[in-house]
Amino acid sequence: MSHLKREDPCIATLIEKERIRIEETLDMIAAENHAPPSVMEVLGSILNTKTIEGYPGKRFHAGCEHVDEIEDIAVQRAKELFGAEYVNVQPHSGTSANLAVYFSVLDVGDSVLSMGLPHGGHLSHGHRASITSKCFEFTHYGVDPKTERLDYDRIRDLAYKVKPKMIVAGASSYPRLIDYEKIAVIAREVNAYCLADMAHLAGLVAGKVIPSPVPCCDFVTFTTYKTLMGGRGGVILAREEFGQRLNAAVFPGCQGTSAVNLIAAKGLIFKLAMEPRFIEIQKKTVENAKILAQSLNAQGYRIVSGGTDNHQVLIDLTSKKLNGAMAETALESAGIVLNRNVIPSDVRTPGSVSGLRLGSAGLTTRGMGHSEMITIAGMIDRVLSQSDDPTVLNKTNHQVKKLCRRYPVYA
Ligand SMILES: *Cc1c(COP(=O)(O)O)cnc(C)c1O
Repeated sequence: MSHLKREDPCIATLIEKERIRIEETLDMIAAENHAPPSVMEVLGSILNTKTIEGYPGKRFHAGCEHVDEIEDIAVQRAKELFGAEYVNVQPHSGTSANLAVYFSVLDVGDSVLSMGLPHGGHLSHGHRASITSKCFEFTHYGVDPKTERLDYDRIRDLAYKVKPKMIVAGASSYPRLIDYEKIAVIAREVNAYCLADMAHLAGLVAGKVIPSPVPCCDFVTFTTYKTLMGGRGGVILAREEFGQRLNAAVFPGCQGTSAVNLIAAKGLIFKLAMEPRFIEIQKKTVENAKILAQSLNAQGYRIVSGGTDNHQVLIDLTSKKLNGAMAETALESAGIVLNRNVIPSDVRTPGSVSGLRLGSAGLTTRGMGHSEMITIAGMIDRVLSQSDDPTVLNKTNHQVKKLCRRYPVYA
């Protein structure tokens, strides 16, 4: 980055510091992953400056012959990878993708049934702070208080009661598999569209380690930067019959020009996702999450829902002296980076919360496996049980850095 260093040493230094932070800490944020260097090359390429509106062959500016090909390739690869009839690779983010799906088939004021945020749902599923709740009438379902898993009978009851035009299946913090087929059947019974938001899970679905919602749902949205590790952005998959409405809902409905560098990175990751290395990482990501859950449980932590089927582990700190916020801070000072999270039936206030959300994707991508998960679970326990002892935090941080050096992110 020689130009940057010369022209803006301040930003250049901060990027270098951030690079070191990534190398020297354990990224256990479930919504993050490390993108391959080739993805980074595409993101920082000259594609960034091309202005495009519309779709390949139907643009509003000249000079699009090469970027048209790039978008066509990205769409084609996503169709193949996910077995989808229609693909839109233009959404800037998962939220943009969801907005476009809503506006493609719903009218303002229509009712939608989705998972509530306190139970694991996402802001863009009708949270009161999101524009989605101002446009549509959301009703929220949650998990069964005992099993902490989705209660499909309750979802059916709610669906018959509120008669939604759309049911959303998907979550930001839910460590179990979602039975998309069941939700799709409920949607058909009440004549609602079915949207699966697999933002967190796209990499696991692409690697075929968990079931895909594509065969049974009308719409599937996802982000490309979580388990899929393809740089930032959103994607919509759908049945062909919704194609025209979705095209219009993305552009010009919800967005203007789309980012060609992001579209190219999506195309690249769809290719890499068909290769054995990617599939192996996704398999190991799920295995590693299970080992984390088992080890922490063995050390006396209650795991929400009793375990995990994906890349997430939710720990319940209700009976511990540290709340989620304090735990997050203590772990961060030891180099273990993750986030506090509300858990179902949380007794603490929104600021402090009782949960910690752990993700295994970043650790797995940099090559860590079984024995590292056990080591890391031990470090987490040590920090949480002795968080007021600075020497414990220091010693753990030292140990984290040593472990990280064995598994460089960008060698
Ligand atoms: C992360 C996430 C999104 C949104 O992604 P942005 O790119 O931040 O807009 C949408 N839905 C779910 C379920 C998510 O977890």
